[in-house]
Amino acid sequence: MATATKDYYQILGVSDSATAADIKKAYRKLAKQYHPDANRTDPAAAEKFKEISEAYAVLSDVEKRKQYDQLRRFGGFDFRRPGGGPGAPGGFRVDADTFSFEDLTGFGGLGDLFSSIFGGRARAAGARPSGPRKGPDVEYLVEVEFELAARGGKIQIAVPISDECAVCGGSGAEPGTKTQRCGECGGTGNVTFGQGGFAVKRPCPACLGRGTIPEQACRACGGSGVMRQERQIQLTVPAGVDTGSKLRLRGQGERGAMGGPPGDLIVTFKVRPHRFFRREGLDVQVSVPINVAQATLGSKVRVRTIHGKRVVLRIPPGTQSGTKFRIAQQGIRKGERVGDQYVEIRVVVPEKLASEEEDAMRKFAETAGLKY
Ligand SMILES: [Zn+2]
Ligand SMILES: [Zn+2]
Repeated sequence: MATATKDYYQILGVSDSATAADIKKAYRKLAKQYHPDANRTDPAAAEKFKEISEAYAVLSDVEKRKQYDQLRRFGGFDFRRPGGGPGAPGGFRVDADTFSFEDLTGFGGLGDLFSSIFGGRARAAGARPSGPRKGPDVEYLVEVEFELAARGGKIQIAVPISDECAVCGGSGAEPGTKTQRCGECGGTGNVTFGQGGFAVKRPCPACLGRGTIPEQACRACGGSGVMRQERQIQLTVPAGVDTGSKLRLRGQGERGAMGGPPGDLIVTFKVRPHRFFRREGLDVQVSVPINVAQATLGSKVRVRTIHGKRVVLRIPPGTQSGTKFRIAQQGIRKGERVGDQYVEIRVVVPEKLASEEEDAMRKFAETAGLKY
C-alpha cells in the first residue's frame, strides 16, 4: 500500500540526485536480496520487497519522480531522516518555525498530486504523529591566529544560534499570562490535510506544534518561543589545524523539533597569516635578513620558533642569499608527527652607507682588484 510517509530515496539507499542508472542498479540489488522466493521463511523480506518495488515504481518514472520530489521538498511527508550531516543526500526536514499559514494555501492541489503519483489506490496508512526531529546543523567559520592554530589551545567563540527563548522558556507566552488550547488543531499539535481519502499530518502551523496558543505572545520572541542569540562556546582548537580544517561539535547546533535532539555545530577554521612565520604542511618557514658583512664573514642570528623558543643560528662565512637552515622538530606537531622550521637567509645589500663604511667597502674593492 502506498503511503505518503516514506522516503523512497532512503528505501533504495540512493541520494536524491541519483541518476536513473543509479536507481535501477540500487533497485536490482535490493530486489534480488529481498525477493520473496529467496526469503520464504522471512515475512519481513516480503514487506521490504514491496516497499522497494513501490519506491522503484515512482523513482524510475521521470514524471512521477518529479512530482514526488516536489512533494518531498514541500514537506508533506512525515518520514524521519536518518541522522545525516549537513546536506546529506535526502536530507529534509519539516521546519515548524518557518512554516506559516500562507503556505497552506499552496497545498490546494496536493491530493491531486498524490493520486497522480500513486494512482487511485493511494491511501494514507494511519498517519504517524509528527515525531521528534534532530535539529539542523550550524556552520561557523572561525578565524584563528597562526600560532594558536599551530600549537592548539582554547578560544571563546560566540555562535549565532536560534535557541529557546530565555524569557518565556520556549512556550511563546508572555511570562505570567495564560495559554489556551489551539483551536486550529484542537490541542493535538498536528493538522491533517489532503483530499480524496488521502491524509498527511504535519505540525500545526498556528501553534507551531505545541497544541497551545498564548493569550499574550512573549514580547521577547514574538510568540515563536525561539530567539536568535549568541551562544558562547569554549572551543578547543586542536594543534595543527589549517585553513579549511573542520571540527564537529555534537549537539551544539540548532535545537530539534518536537523534542528531538539538537543538531551539530560544524566549525571551519581560517588561519590568519603571520608576519614572520609561513606554513608548509607541518613545516614552518621564515626568512631572516642579514647584511653583506654577516654573510661574508659569518655571523650568529637569533630566530624565534612557533613554540616560543629562541634559537641561535650560526651562519658560516660565505653564506649565499637563499641558503636554508633547518631547525629540527620546531615545526607543527600533529599527533605523532612533527615538522621542522626552515630559516632562509636573505642577504640585504645596503642602500646607503655611512662614510666610514663606504671607505671600508672601497678598500675591499681595491684589495679584490676591482675598478669602479
Ligand atoms: Zn519568548
Ligand atoms: Zn495548533
